[in-house]
Amino acid sequence: MEPVCPIGLACASEISALLSPPSPLQVQEYYHNLLSSRGCSGISVKQDGNFGKGVYADMDFKEGELVLKDPMFVGVQHSLNKIDCLVCSFCFRFIGSIELQIGRRLYMKQLRANESHGCDVRNSSQHFHGMDSSDEEENTQQCTSGISKTKIPLPEGVVESLMKGQLMLPCSEKFTLLPAVPCPGGCGEVYYCSMSCAEADWESSHLLLCTGESSDPARREALLKFIKHANETNDIFILAAKAISSTILRYRKLKAASLEKQVKHDTSCVSNHRSLSFLLEAWRPISMGHKRRWWDCIALPDDVDSSDEASFRLQIKELAFESLQLLKAAIFDKECEPLFSLEIYGHIIGMFELNNLDLVVASPVEDYFLYIDDLTHPNKEEAEKITQPILDALGEDYSICCEGTAFFPLQSCMNHSCCPNAKAFKRDEDKDGQATIIAHRFIRKGEEITISYVDEDLPFEERQASLADYGFRCRCPKCIEEEP
Ligand SMILES: [Zn+2]
Ligand SMILES: [Zn+2]
Ligand SMILES: [Zn+2]
Repeated sequence: MEPVCPIGLACASEISALLSPPSPLQVQEYYHNLLSSRGCSGISVKQDGNFGKGVYADMDFKEGELVLKDPMFVGVQHSLNKIDCLVCSFCFRFIGSIELQIGRRLYMKQLRANESHGCDVRNSSQHFHGMDSSDEEENTQQCTSGISKTKIPLPEGVVESLMKGQLMLPCSEKFTLLPAVPCPGGCGEVYYCSMSCAEADWESSHLLLCTGESSDPARREALLKFIKHANETNDIFILAAKAISSTILRYRKLKAASLEKQVKHDTSCVSNHRSLSFLLEAWRPISMGHKRRWWDCIALPDDVDSSDEASFRLQIKELAFESLQLLKAAIFDKECEPLFSLEIYGHIIGMFELNNLDLVVASPVEDYFLYIDDLTHPNKEEAEKITQPILDALGEDYSICCEGTAFFPLQSCMNHSCCPNAKAFKRDEDKDGQATIIAHRFIRKGEEITISYVDEDLPFEERQASLADYGFRCRCPKCIEEEP
């Protein structure tokens, strides 16, 4: 049965104000401010009547030159990836030490091997993941090969000493990481690379999403239920919760700033009512990106027959409603009530579904073992006495990247081309979760900057089929030439 959302009825006019598309001027202004607040020069975002937004070069870029670094609006590490990598929950940089990364991973894997249903969670969530299929397949492979018989366990106590910092690995001082800072809210769930990341995350969303002891017990329990549901179904809900939380916190800041002004001017009225203008202002970053509801835009999975499409979409809608009720129990704010309507929730998730981009950060553990491998005689043999048993225990997939999903406000404005002039590419120095866009060839001032959403070397038909999931048919020069 179709879920009925009471907030959708009660707040209909505010919801439609939130969902009405921003004017071209607002778009231009928003991205102009975003770019200048980041000190980012050389590019601009323009709105075009036919094709929507696009990113344009305001200067020439040489091949290989950095076009843009794009910090995420919101991001989340995949829940199972948390077993493999300890990263800052705000900037996604690896933290702790090489020893801690390795020890923790071996320890968690052991825990998981002891729980017989280790792989089930990921498999049940896959169905709802939509377009992330390539990424998911990789994860599933790791999952099945994760507890391989070829791995040789370490002697007792070694894993513990690694985690406690009692056992130092040779040359690991060349790969120092920032120490892990636990969440100040005491949830014990998230860690940061610095106090500044901890504070920034707290202010942007974690204040509402922290499950620490200091939070209200009823809310805390509700929040834990919401997180459990998201982990078991789809971590896109966590991303949506972060987006809603950050909107609520921006709203409160705008309102507080305005009240402060009012007090200064000694006007007597202090309102506890919702202010639509503050809510619209707080909503602005999302208003730039949302297009369609999740259940309307999610690609039909291959294993769902087209005759079952309607019931599949209804199922997705019900799942979203289920998640929303859990989130509402945890962080509801009457002044921001429209944000808790199914209509708004659907649009936020839809924005991530159509735009979400892989969050990948390479692991320093890989660099570490490569470094040991490159040592010369006799240092190499000496080091390997200690590192080889650890490599054997880790097995083939000795190093795993941090993987997740994030929304990058500028990269998501870049249009697709099968012969793109730019590409997302992490250089050695790019050690956090920001998207990095590099010129793939010379880009002339005034040219639109394009990236490829799919593997551009695939044959024409396969490219078009993959791009159909993004809701368009490609008409780039390569496609026009190859069209049969
Ligand atoms: Zn950080
Ligand atoms: Zn916390
Ligand atoms: Zn094309």
